[in-house]
Formats: sequence, C-alpha cells, structure tokens
Amino acid sequence: MTQLYAEVIGDPISHSKSPAIHGFWLGQLGIDADYRAQHVTPEGLGDYFAARAADPNWRGCNITIPHKQAALEFVTDPGGVRGTIGAINTVIRDGDALIGTNTDAGGFYAPIAGLDLAGKHTLVIGAGGAARAILFALSKLGVGKVTVQNRNVLKAAALLSSFGLKGDAVPLGTAIPPVDLLVNASALGMKGQPPLEIDLDPLPEDAVVYDIVYAPLETRLLAQAHARELATVDGLDMLIGQAALAFELFFGAEPPRDRDDELRELLTS
Ligand code: NAP
Repeated sequence: MTQLYAEVIGDPISHSKSPAIHGFWLGQLGIDADYRAQHVTPEGLGDYFAARAADPNWRGCNITIPHKQAALEFVTDPGGVRGTIGAINTVIRDGDALIGTNTDAGGFYAPIAGLDLAGKHTLVIGAGGAARAILFALSKLGVGKVTVQNRNVLKAAALLSSFGLKGDAVPLGTAIPPVDLLVNASALGMKGQPPLEIDLDPLPEDAVVYDIVYAPLETRLLAQAHARELATVDGLDMLIGQAALAFELFFGAEPPRDRDDELRELLTS
C-alpha cells in the first residue's frame, strides 16, 4: 500500500464508528489517505506495533478495548499519560518513535468548554477507563466537589484520590445530590447492558446531564433529562470530539466540525 493511512485497533473491532468518522472528514477535506479498522488480539499487539513502526505510510492508530493500557508498553509517553489517565487511545509516529497519547479527556471536555465549572459540584457515575479520563479532565477544570457513584465503591474512592479531587465515593443507586453537572461514564444504558436507574428530581433547573454512552444515542438518562428540560450532551459529542483531536495528529488538518450535523446523521442512520 502506498497511500497514507491510520487505523483503529481493538478486539473485537467491527463495531467501531471511528472509520466512518475519519473517512467522512478525509472525504470532506479531499485528503488522499485511508482510515480503517484493524483487528488486533492481545497476543498480536507487540507484532502489530513493530510492523507499523516500519511502515512509512502509517500515520498512527486509535486504540480501543482491550488494548488501552497494554499499548503503553510499546510507545514513548512524553505527556506522562501513564501516571495520570493510565491508558492511551491514540498512537502517532514521530520519526522512528511511536508516541502514545489520550484524546478522551479532551473529547469529553470539548462539548462543555463553554461551562464554568470552577467550584461546581459534579456527579460522575462509573469508575472504569472512561471515568478515569473524565476525572482527569475535571481535575484540570478546578471543579469543586466530585461525587463518584459506582457498583464497586472502592474503585470510585481510588479514582478520586488518584486525581486529588475533593468529594465522596458512593454506591450505585444512592440518591443523587443537587449537582451542576451529572456525567454517566458507566456502561449502564448502553445497548445490551442494564438501564441506569436514576431519579433526576434533585437536580437544579440549570444542571447539565452528560451521557457518554452513544448506542443508543438517546439513552433513558437523556430522555429523563429532556423530560425535565435540562441541558444535555450525548455520547456522540464526546466520540466525535476525541476523534477530531486524533485526526489532527494523524493528518495535520483540522476536521470540518461545521459538518457535524451531517456526520451525526451518517453515524446514526
Ligand atoms: P469499563 O472500563 O469497562 O468500565 C465500565 C463501568 O461501568 C464501570 O464503572 C463498571 O462498574 C460499570 N458497569 C458495567 N456493567 C455494570 C453493571 N451491570 N452494573 C453496574 N455497573 C456496571 O468501560 P469504559 O471504557 O469506562 O466505558 C464505559 C462506557 O462509556 C461504555 O458504554 C463505552 O461505550 C462508553 N464510552 C464512550 C466514549 C465516547 O467517546 N462517547 C468513550 C469511552 C467509553 P464496576 O467498576 O463496578 O465494574
């Protein structure tokens, strides 16, 4: 192959929306490059990076489950992601070096960049990989108290302390406090997973509800927030946001974000 390309790797990988997102932007910008899905097993990860490091047409890759932590072993980490988020979702080439980074925190932040969260109380539901990137972003925004609800409360407490955030860790299902921002960073509400059972009554009228689950796009949580006429952010906003940061790193061009409506339609059709 002589064409420049980037790809997304994972196991499984066929469900990934990344080829559709990057392919849309490449087409819109008329960039002669390809972005594809590549199935890579945990045993094959080392060989994958060795082969791609030797391929001058490879611009980099996005990384999805289950490789986000394991991939750190094969890259340099100038941004210190290992010691903060602890997982990478993007690898790019710099000369002979493979550089790992994480665009999930930036992708989470982009849709709420206009909010002033300084000193505000936030509730995060979930304490997995995505929640780590989100708590990292919140720690940089100077938020006030952070409540983390999770099935495994110990994981929630560990997450809070690893980012030096003030707050509390409580079991899933605990009545919610009147927070300014509520984020679902758990798998609950995703297709094939149990729903997130939650009562939004305690939220003030100007609260924002952010669900990072994107399949389905309108989760039950977002439907409840809409019924209360609360402001909402859905999972495609974060997905497109993290992809946009990676796209610039791969192809050196800003994606056409003024075409997001068209892109969202493509991703949901
Ligand atoms: P993960 O590391 O596997 O974490 C899963 C989280 O969900 C944990 O907090 C886990 O609780 C909780 N959970 C899972 N099943 C549960 C159940 N049956 N009952 C109660 N809690 C349950 O996954 P992740 O990578 O953080 O991803 C979480 C979700 O975010 C997924 O739906 C994923 O698709 C979505 N996501 C979206 C974006 C985006 O760009 N929009 C980016 C990343 C992820 P325990 O800790 O107690 O196990």
